Amino acid sequence: MKIFGVGRNYADHAKELGNEIPDEPIIFTKPETAVLKNDAPFYYPTFSQDIHFEVELLIRISKEGKNISPRFANKYFNEIGIGIDFTARDLQTIAKKKGLPWDIAKGFNGSAPLSLFVPLAQFPEDKNINFSIYQNKELKQVGNSKQMIFDFSYLVAYISKYFTLKKGDVIFTGTPSGVGSIAVGDLLEAYIEGQKMLICEIK
Ligand code: ZN
Repeated sequence: MKIFGVGRNYADHAKELGNEIPDEPIIFTKPETAVLKNDAPFYYPTFSQDIHFEVELLIRISKEGKNISPRFANKYFNEIGIGIDFTARDLQTIAKKKGLPWDIAKGFNGSAPLSLFVPLAQFPEDKNINFSIYQNKELKQVGNSKQMIFDFSYLVAYISKYFTLKKGDVIFTGTPSGVGSIAVGDLLEAYIEGQKMLICEIK
């Protein structure tokens, strides 16, 4: 299983971190050891003093493909979920300044809590799916898939130019504005269309 992330896919989030809007998706990966399933808690690591939550819609790849054309890309995914792209913002800021890769800031253990997946067909439109995250019962991020700079199909086609996609691979499709720091004792709760899909306690 491969996990892909997309940087700056929501203009308002790019702006809040002082980044430019990209011409093409900014792709990074997380290893399988980043996955947290079944609402498992996240253990705050000692190597960072500033871990941020980023709530994101996930799509799961349903069949193998490479060099997929954007026109047919929707044949390659049929399930959606929600995830948190935990980011060690302090390490990422240093990496960005030095022009270094983001791997340790994005791919560390437990950095990818995933919800269960549900059929995308459950939603009338791919381009109008609301999602949100609460931190200690306070609403922190609200997004809608229509705000994505690059939509699901574009991302699948683009990623498949470089990486053969396999059944079960997961794409984190980017975060809207409102990201913030977590602390030990926090409770994060993520929703798609009012349905609680994921909880994550910080320990
Ligand atoms: Zn992200």
